[in-house]
Amino acid sequence: MQITRESVVKYIKDELKYNPESIGRAFSKVMDQIFSPYTMIGGYTLIFIEDHTNGVFCDKCARKEFLTNNISMSIGTYDEGENIYCDECNKEIESSYGPIDNDEE
Ligand SMILES: [Zn+2]
Repeated sequence: MQITRESVVKYIKDELKYNPESIGRAFSKVMDQIFSPYTMIGGYTLIFIEDHTNGVFCDKCARKEFLTNNISMSIGTYDEGENIYCDECNKEIESSYGPIDNDEE
């Protein structure tokens, strides 16, 4: 899934359609849903990759980068592999299923 300013505005408008509450509340609800460390269903690890630099971010830094620099980024699950680190805060991010097991015989 790719996140751009336009897609976030669309999510906020959709949210306001079903829940005509304040824009501020709809905005923080949408941001909380997008920038989460895990998928809502299944609890799989999410990582955030900046589209131009391919920088990898944790949910908190991705949210901050998105809001301050208005960058587009891709969001995906990180299913299997060694732990990786956020390029911004160096937070360790574990894959959903842990390292790939190469010892299969
Ligand atoms: Zn971070």
